[in-house]
Amino acid sequence: MTGRWFAIPLWQRVIAALVLGVLAGFLWGPGAESIKIVGDLFIAFIKMLVVPLIFISIVSGVASIGDLRKLGAVGWRALLLFVATSQVAVWLGLALGTFFLPGVGVDTSGIALGEPPQPNETTWREMLLGMVPQSPVQVMADANVLPLIVFALLVGIGIVMAKEEGGPVARIFDSGAVVMQKVTIVVMELTPFGVFALMAWVTGTLGRDALVALAKLVALNYAGCLLIILLVYASLIRFVAKLPIHDFFRGMIDAIAVAYSTASSNATLPVTLRCTQRNLGVSAPTSSFVVSLGATINMDGTAMYLGLATLFGAQIFGVPLDFGDYVMISVLATLGSVGAAGIPGAGMIMMALVFGAVGVPLETIAFVAGIDRIMDMMRTATNVTGDGTVTTTVAALTGEIDRGEMISADDV
Ligand code: ASP
Repeated sequence: MTGRWFAIPLWQRVIAALVLGVLAGFLWGPGAESIKIVGDLFIAFIKMLVVPLIFISIVSGVASIGDLRKLGAVGWRALLLFVATSQVAVWLGLALGTFFLPGVGVDTSGIALGEPPQPNETTWREMLLGMVPQSPVQVMADANVLPLIVFALLVGIGIVMAKEEGGPVARIFDSGAVVMQKVTIVVMELTPFGVFALMAWVTGTLGRDALVALAKLVALNYAGCLLIILLVYASLIRFVAKLPIHDFFRGMIDAIAVAYSTASSNATLPVTLRCTQRNLGVSAPTSSFVVSLGATINMDGTAMYLGLATLFGAQIFGVPLDFGDYVMISVLATLGSVGAAGIPGAGMIMMALVFGAVGVPLETIAFVAGIDRIMDMMRTATNVTGDGTVTTTVAALTGEIDRGEMISADDV
């Protein structure tokens, strides 16, 4: 029986749970509130992952860069492109959320909020000071993610500076990162149950309006990701790398398909490497370095979604946000996309980081968790296409690409 359950791919179980949850909610009505505890447990497990996952994956990511000075031409260009594309992505998400207002019109009076949303009155001075992890242990205990990321970056740099003597610590973090990914996979097995309960609760207590809002969110998520791919990536390939766009997409198609179906940049890594090297003619050292780094820290689909979802949460719960909050969201969504591991559901885990900072109730996570997988698939396809774009562009700029090797659309 259990064997048969696990033989069904997780995403199929999740989709089935989603449909059944909606049906159960319609039939059950407000009574569905009674099974919300199952969804709450699922979310509590997700929250459990935030601190260790961010801390360990950032330390191990920075440490794996090795000698900071040797990062050289390839590294800086890649990092610059990673940050620039993430920023474009998150502001696109914010623009979509602001213009199309996906969360407006949902009556959330039926939802009991755990704690009232905190009005955001932090000044720039306090924000700057708050980024310093005065007490790293306190920062972890409070799940205060911004100073936690600063601390993780510094520890990573310290490991690199310590050279051979930092080796043992680096290995502990590398192995810790693998272990945390496995823990996440275990938690993700709870998804079908969490999704069923959350969808039944959302549909039962909030009715059709909630479903319409969620459908809008999904549509905007897909639109945002497609815009990133068709505008941002295509422009980089065409105007910066100066390569034919259709040949690029043709070369990346296997990786994009695997990313979409697995919802995991990490699982797609071997395919992305093969596509960039074999189909796009990028040299092996450049592609290994940039693609692996990108699979961990370059997630434009995730950054876009974090921006969009934060506005969605603010709209359904009526939290006012000003421009300062938007800037805060853009910084945290970028950091969140850097800290998110390349595994299914990682973007959802990072929502807690952004929401908390601008006073959007964490209940929003429960609200959208039921449909996360459908959006995650598109986010991941975008993330992986972004890795391929940056790798190919940097390779073209540094002469690390063999244009003769590049697959042509005519070869198909
Ligand atoms: N699943 C995504 C990835 O692997 C991350 C996310 O959840 O946004 O790239």
